[in-house]
Amino acid sequence: MVATPESAPVAIINPRTSGAAQPAFDAYGRQMSYLRISLTDRCNFRCVYCMPALGMKFQPREEHLTDDELLRVIGLFAKIGIRKLRLTGGEPTIRPHLVGLIRAMKEFDGIEEVSMTTNALLLSRLGPDLKEAGLDRVNISIDTLDPDRFREMTRGGRLDLVWKGIETADAVGLTPIKLNTVVMRGQNDHEVVDLARLTLDHPWSMRFLEIMPLEGVGDVHDEGLVTSEETKSRLESVYGPLEPIETDPADPARLWRIAGAPGTIGFISPVSAPFCAACNRLRLTADGKIRLCLLRPDEGDLRDLLRAGADDDTLEEAMRAAIWRKPWGHKLSEGKRDTIRGMSQIGG
Ligand code: SAM
Ligand code: SF4
Repeated sequence: MVATPESAPVAIINPRTSGAAQPAFDAYGRQMSYLRISLTDRCNFRCVYCMPALGMKFQPREEHLTDDELLRVIGLFAKIGIRKLRLTGGEPTIRPHLVGLIRAMKEFDGIEEVSMTTNALLLSRLGPDLKEAGLDRVNISIDTLDPDRFREMTRGGRLDLVWKGIETADAVGLTPIKLNTVVMRGQNDHEVVDLARLTLDHPWSMRFLEIMPLEGVGDVHDEGLVTSEETKSRLESVYGPLEPIETDPADPARLWRIAGAPGTIGFISPVSAPFCAACNRLRLTADGKIRLCLLRPDEGDLRDLLRAGADDDTLEEAMRAAIWRKPWGHKLSEGKRDTIRGMSQIGG
């Protein structure tokens, strides 16, 4: 049973006294096993729900963890129980040495899976090498099937190249493929029926995300939010009742299927139905902070410790202490917004 803030045990394993090989738990008894790594805060798109039109500031590159720093930290995360890595950003495919980084990540004891969330613009070129290096699978963001709207929503992106990226991912076996669509009122909400139709022809998971009010896009959220319930009703008015599929509670998507479809439909509803109770995930920002919740500002620093010459025990203790402080959940339903960073700076 998953603990709630009220029922949570006060101490499962004290981070200061636990042994080196113990997995890391937070104060609510949630064991951390999944790490999202932002490889860069930069991107080759400027999606309207992710970055503001003007005034986007990027971090100086020297503030980002170097390859050596990043791999050292990942090795320590593996030691304290992280089993799955997801590479994200910004756009992870623009990180130099990506292929070599993935190969090195796969070599750590305990790392069972390395996946990536990408806009797929560069995937037709990089896909075969990424697969060969050990990348297991990809989630690809695609918000519309209309090339003009795609250019507008990404502020310049090309749908034909992204589609080639999806086909390459399929062909080289970066599967099962998950497609992510942020549904926005007045932009692409009328396209959810066409996007869902992809699951009739492909064994893909088509996931519809509620837009979140991260830094810089609060106004876009306020105008654009379409709840998962609304999207589901729209789909059911065309395809009939969706069939529920049993879902891992740690998976943020609740899964359904159009009757007879090889693919699935997922709804990710951080605004209308938060999934904090089963949260087993941490984030590592490109500038070396452990981000404990996407939608809360709490972070723990690793980069300054690394650069001050900290040994592995000190770093591990800092990780455990940060994890212990992981907040129970976000407070969007109470109207609270205190994220400090934008999505591309955290690693969505
Ligand atoms: N550039 C890659 C991509 O777009 O797939 C990875 C980084 S992107 C920040 C990760 C995911 O966050 C994407 O699926 C994107 O659609 C989603 N995202 C970005 N801003 C969002 C927002 N305000 N609300 C909900 N999802 C958002
Ligand atoms: Fe870039 Fe991904 Fe953000 Fe779009 S959602 S601007 S592709 S980081």
